[in-house]
Amino acid sequence: MAKENYPPGVQNYIVRGQKMLADEATQRTRMRSKRFDTIAVHGIYGLEAALANQGSINEPVYLSSAQHFENSDHMEAALAYLMPSWAYSRIANPTLHYLEETLSLLEGYGFDEEVSCCATGSGMAAIFLATNPFLVDSPPKGPFNIVVSSKCYGGTFMLFNERYAKERGIDVRWVKDPLDLKEWESLVDQQTRFLFAEMPSNPTLAVFDICAVALLAHQFGVPLIVDSTIATPALLRPLCLGADIVVHSVSKSMNAGGLAIAGAVIARHQIPSRVGPDEMRENFALYLKLLPGRDFGPALSPLSALLILNELHTLRSKLDLLSQNCMEVARFLAQHSCVTAVYYPGLPGDAGHTVASRLMRLVDSENACDDALPRYGHLLSFRVKGGATKARIFFDRLQMIMRATDLGRIKSIATIPSISTHQQQGDQGRKLADIPGDLVRLNVGGEHPQDIIEDLDQALMGP
Ligand SMILES: *Cc1c(COP(=O)(O)O)cnc(C)c1O
Repeated sequence: MAKENYPPGVQNYIVRGQKMLADEATQRTRMRSKRFDTIAVHGIYGLEAALANQGSINEPVYLSSAQHFENSDHMEAALAYLMPSWAYSRIANPTLHYLEETLSLLEGYGFDEEVSCCATGSGMAAIFLATNPFLVDSPPKGPFNIVVSSKCYGGTFMLFNERYAKERGIDVRWVKDPLDLKEWESLVDQQTRFLFAEMPSNPTLAVFDICAVALLAHQFGVPLIVDSTIATPALLRPLCLGADIVVHSVSKSMNAGGLAIAGAVIARHQIPSRVGPDEMRENFALYLKLLPGRDFGPALSPLSALLILNELHTLRSKLDLLSQNCMEVARFLAQHSCVTAVYYPGLPGDAGHTVASRLMRLVDSENACDDALPRYGHLLSFRVKGGATKARIFFDRLQMIMRATDLGRIKSIATIPSISTHQQQGDQGRKLADIPGDLVRLNVGGEHPQDIIEDLDQALMGP
């Protein structure tokens, strides 16, 4: 229904809503002029918001399932999405709103256009929510396809391969080497719905040239979706490089303490797409939040949102420290006689080093010559000499580094992907993604790097 057709009582609430939106836009603009750390600490929760919340210096956590309305007019205006409100925590919640605003400011840092965010209950929920709307039945008739980097997280592989390809018959075109632009070009056509890649990838840390692949996507009028979970906006902001949609597992480095599972879809406004309604192109993240998100229901808990906000305060300094630790560990492993290969884009010999050192820089670390510090995150992978059996012996000998299928942590954690995160995709799937049995994935934490190195060394050398 058009706004004008609502009764006068509802109109009053619509006017009040416009004032609320304008106030928030003012606060957002104020914060957009601040530096990354300031945004990470405050988000849009300013002095006025604090006073409106009993003076609480931290964002309030509203564990309530629903919002009480002043009267029926208020309820009608709210449920028509004609004024800021939250109604029911599956759809929206004030604590989530603070998280979403902080994430869009951080991911949109240095990007001139508007950015919005939809937080979700996990990273997989974010990837599903961000991709599913492009897979609708829509002209031109005929089978459509998606073009996806094969260097991706096991869960993402399963979503695309099992749910989309096998269950729905969607043509999923895997890019073997995401650094090879020719390969991307050979797979995209008039029936492509989106391009998708991780930067850098889990677990082999493959990178790709976001700018070039975004240009290719735009030539075909479709969006480029980037999963930059491993980098976080402290090291990489794909929207500034031409990507349209960024997805995150907020469960990982953005939430290094590991006390919650969460995800986010962060998108610029006016994304290209051949399918879907105009409102989807206009503000993709808001569209997801209010419509498909409402119907699929992948909502995030407000308590988790608060825990994550708390972690985000120190995102930049943490990623700086953790990346430096990881670089030191990578150098150690690269010269170790029991290691046959190390995958870390920070190493000069790594296939992705040139592209990564151009794109991955610590935000706000520019020197007088405008050069920002190269930082490559805190995930690496390596192959143990002697094959899968030796890799397991090494793994079982670790004394401090935890054995878990996890990453992004302040605690160092090791995984053998072929028997864990990438087990279910089978031999063929692992071959496609280059996951041999002797590959170990290591999340380098915030311990002293020498202690991490000593644990690795004793486990590699044995008694
Ligand atoms: C872990 C991970 C995901 C999935 O996120 P969850 O929060 O575990 O659902 C997606 N992408 C990447 C790169 C990941 O590492």
